[in-house]
Amino acid sequence: AGRFEGRNVLVAGAGVSGRSAAEALLAAGAAVTVTDASADRLVALASLQAQGAELVAGLVEPPTGTDLVVTSPGWRPDAPLLAAAVAAGVEVIGEVELAWRLDQEKEVPARWLAVTGTNGKTTTVSMLESVLRAAGVDVVACGNVGLPVVDAVRAGHEVLAVELSSFQLHWSDSVAAFAAVVLNLAADHLDWHGSLAAYGDAKAKVYAGNSVVVANADDEWSTRLSAAAAADARRVSFTLGAPAEGQLGVEGGSLVDRAFGDGVVLAELADVHPVGPHNVANALAAAALARAYGVDPATVADGLRAFQPGAHRSVVVAAAAGVSYVDDSKATNPHAADAALRAHPQVVWIAGGLLKGAEVDELVAANADRLTAVVLIGRDRGRFAAALARHAPDVPVREVAAGDDAGMLEAVRAADEFARPGSVVLLAPAAASMDMFTDYAHRGRAFADAVRAVLSDAPAAH
Ligand code: ADP
Repeated sequence: AGRFEGRNVLVAGAGVSGRSAAEALLAAGAAVTVTDASADRLVALASLQAQGAELVAGLVEPPTGTDLVVTSPGWRPDAPLLAAAVAAGVEVIGEVELAWRLDQEKEVPARWLAVTGTNGKTTTVSMLESVLRAAGVDVVACGNVGLPVVDAVRAGHEVLAVELSSFQLHWSDSVAAFAAVVLNLAADHLDWHGSLAAYGDAKAKVYAGNSVVVANADDEWSTRLSAAAAADARRVSFTLGAPAEGQLGVEGGSLVDRAFGDGVVLAELADVHPVGPHNVANALAAAALARAYGVDPATVADGLRAFQPGAHRSVVVAAAAGVSYVDDSKATNPHAADAALRAHPQVVWIAGGLLKGAEVDELVAANADRLTAVVLIGRDRGRFAAALARHAPDVPVREVAAGDDAGMLEAVRAADEFARPGSVVLLAPAAASMDMFTDYAHRGRAFADAVRAVLSDAPAAH
């Protein structure tokens, strides 16, 4: 019998990962209760009742006899239910930790290759998945990218390319990936974690128990966190510059490996897409993890070429009259928006939303030269306006107060008036979307719809 047989487990949160956790626990013989603040969300799990799960809305303390709580990653540690569990001495873990424990019970656990960081996680695990598939490895990208890790473990793949958010890491204590990377670290989610140091502590947990530790030599935090990793791990790093011994890097237009190879060429810069230095960094990180697993050099280029970029990550949605319209709705924090802005010389920037405790002064100051005009949306737009007034006083700014799709239409119309041939109208909000939209994907779709509407209204506006 496995360690969950006959245990009383409370699953907190009836979202995607909560459902998968409950299913896996039932299959492992646990007695499962699922709770959620919303009774509606529990209804979606009604089918689990037939398998013996109890569904209880709005629990604020674990039922007597609870052995373990598996929480949804979005719940804050100070949520009353979780605080009550901890106070009662009940262990609280996340779905990723559950996946790890279930995997370790198997005769042949999967190899975990783990990716975290403020930005580039989904791109990197997807590139890694593509490179490993090109090498004929049975791999799946899972975790924060969408597929719950529990499901990936139960499906029995050879390798898991695991994207881990800081929330998921917060609730994982024994996960020890074979190889891991912290891509970068910048202010994000500080409202959840409390401080940059606490956020960094969560990210650093990815470096526990690895055989191979991969760091971004160009990122101060990644370098610092990796230095604290276990002494017996093999350490490699990557850089956008020429690679030193022990590094992957860029030399004469090629991605070169001086860590797992002696200067062997892995791919050409032209094999990396979407364009932009940040995607070269993501490709180097993916290549390092693939090489750590033993993929041969020649396969890396094939995998990078086959990689399909994700939606809302620097996607050109339209081009007309010399202006292109780019959706980078996934730029949900200033660090991501900085990468998106740097890819273009002349930008009409649509920004704003929920800043989650981040500052935008540095972002605005660093990109003032490339801004033709700025259109601000969302709840924290005043913070952007103040930073623009301080660091880019000559750049015209328009503020849009309306929320939802109507606000986006007004924003795109204003941006289009500012645009000149050669401009890029760029949605890279540097902020979360939930004040106006369901999520970043909804925001991206609203942008694309607005662009189509504006272009069909005024086909020769420029
Ligand atoms: P995550 O999964 O960490 O949110 P994504 O791969 O989905 O990261 O990319 C999110 C956004 O972050 C992209 O749309 C782009 O604007 C930006 N970005 C991607 N990679 C990087 C990177 N290495 N450094 C900085 N910004 C990046």
